[in-house]
Amino acid sequence: MTHPFLDLAPLSAARFASVEDRVARLLDTRQDVVIMQGEALLPLEGAIRGTAGPDTTALNVITGPYGRTFGDWLRDCGATVIDLAVPFHTAVTAEQIRAAFAEHPEIGFVSLVHAEAATGNTNPVAEIGEVVKEHGALFYLDAVASVGAEPVLPDAWGVDLCVIGAQKAMGGPAGVSAVSVSERAWARMAANPKAPRRSYLSLLDWKERWVDGGRTALPHAPAQLEMLALEACVERIEADGLETVMARHASAAAATRAGAVALGAGLEPYVHEAREAAPVATTLRAPAGVVASELVARALTGDPALPLAAGGGALAKEMIRVNHYGADATPGAVRSSLTALGAALAERGLTADLPGALRAAESAWR
Ligand SMILES: *Cc1c(COP(=O)(O)O)cnc(C)c1O
Repeated sequence: MTHPFLDLAPLSAARFASVEDRVARLLDTRQDVVIMQGEALLPLEGAIRGTAGPDTTALNVITGPYGRTFGDWLRDCGATVIDLAVPFHTAVTAEQIRAAFAEHPEIGFVSLVHAEAATGNTNPVAEIGEVVKEHGALFYLDAVASVGAEPVLPDAWGVDLCVIGAQKAMGGPAGVSAVSVSERAWARMAANPKAPRRSYLSLLDWKERWVDGGRTALPHAPAQLEMLALEACVERIEADGLETVMARHASAAAATRAGAVALGAGLEPYVHEAREAAPVATTLRAPAGVVASELVARALTGDPALPLAAGGGALAKEMIRVNHYGADATPGAVRSSLTALGAALAERGLTADLPGALRAAESAWR
């Protein structure tokens, strides 16, 4: 008997190229889209190592843990890095980017995370893109946590390197990812003697061996299962409609936020302004005296499959994450999450208004 995962026909170059084209349509981009055969950290690192070098001055915006990682890679490439860190309860503003350029006109590279699932904020990329364009810097964007949850428009926003992954709001696989690359970014890589070549991190290899050859022969065996899963995931988004999928995430975020506020018991949205809160995931601040990771552990005892997590690292004490993305961008997942948090708070002896929270969540769902 043939096995559904194992006995597959080879994935053709044409099929691979067609998945790239569908991803390009999802991003409304005319740039080259390269699907990378690994989790999103692969194109995130490959794009930085391909474009940054000792002659690069980079403005690295830190609104969560990924920004720190990008700064480390940039430094490792020999770049001069100007870190712009903003508190995790807020977003960076275009004015802050403008001020950074005014102070350091030599900035030639800007790295930014669009939405941070880890901290729950989202940054105004369209406005920031205007500023970056005025100064002619190369614009690198991590849109892993935003794609599928809110608009991601590399061409309209002047993004030169836009990295996405399917495992969050797209509801797809984690083992493949994609990056759209502008002509400028390709030129920068070609001129960069330190850009990875003949390496798994190399975007240039894909350009030379795949894109420039008209995408007729794959450079190596593709991650077939993940490619099929990515194709199915994009197909599902196309069938539902991207607008509908994004609206579901926006509603889940609005409902979770409203529900948490109504729950009371000292629980608060971690990101102060709703417009700076990411549609992909909602972060909450644990009540004073309550350790977030302990509260989450309690909330998960009834149903370990709920999309609840504590913040990573030092944030584990104070941050609760409701990961209402992909299959969990539903009223049911929001309700169950609020119910479990309400019960865990009540166990701690705190007064939580669960009926009020569920009403607030329902009316906030648009
Ligand atoms: C989730 C995410 C990634 C990918 O990292 P994983 O932890 O492997 O899923 C990259 N960037 C951002 C901003 C993310 O939220």
